[in-house]
Amino acid sequence: MPRSLRTEAIVLRSIRYGEADRILHLYTPDHGRLAAIAKGARRARSRFGARLEPFFHIGVILHEGRGELHTVTGVDTIAAHAPLREHAATLDAAARACDAVARLFETPEPHPEVFRLLANELALLDSGAEHARPATGLAFRLKLLLAAGIVPQLASCAGCGETEHLQGFSAAAGGVVCSACEAAAFPLGQEGHGFLVGALGRPLAQAPDASDRALAQAERAITETAEHHAHVHLRPLVIRG
Ligand SMILES: [Zn+2]
Repeated sequence: MPRSLRTEAIVLRSIRYGEADRILHLYTPDHGRLAAIAKGARRARSRFGARLEPFFHIGVILHEGRGELHTVTGVDTIAAHAPLREHAATLDAAARACDAVARLFETPEPHPEVFRLLANELALLDSGAEHARPATGLAFRLKLLLAAGIVPQLASCAGCGETEHLQGFSAAAGGVVCSACEAAAFPLGQEGHGFLVGALGRPLAQAPDASDRALAQAERAITETAEHHAHVHLRPLVIRG
């Protein structure tokens, strides 16, 4: 017996399909990532209006089909995120945030904290272009790694537990490494290490500042961790280290 499901969702992707339909990739608090078809969504007088564009935070009613594709039967807007669409930098940051969620969290497994984190990131991007800075984008990704269960070890050497002389990062080892364990590591300076610790520990809106060099090292640590432990390639942020 087909069922109806009512949920909040953020539109990660919205793809034209057939003559007038859209296929949506939705991220939900309690059902992870779902795919749904919105029939007739591209008709001029569609009852869905413009609510099915990327970044829309919606309340949606889905009819559960037999396969993986649900059918959208009702939509209302919770947040349209119009302000972030006005600047190329915030639009781009929002697209990268949705893309990172889509790549790291592909299944219906629930991660309500990921939903809240993405809603928070989009609200921040609405509030001002300063939140499109790479430090916020990296902090967002690091918090995604935490939710995915693959956050790197930062407090002590991932090889031997040493807490001094931490000067490298190895995704294979699982985090920062000391001078004795640095095979397969790349150099991670004190500032880059401090950024990772601060970004993980603080709210997204308070991601610490750091030099481009430190941010580039932090990005490499995050990117290599996602590749090594989740086999996911994250699109690079624009940082010149
Ligand atoms: Zn060590």
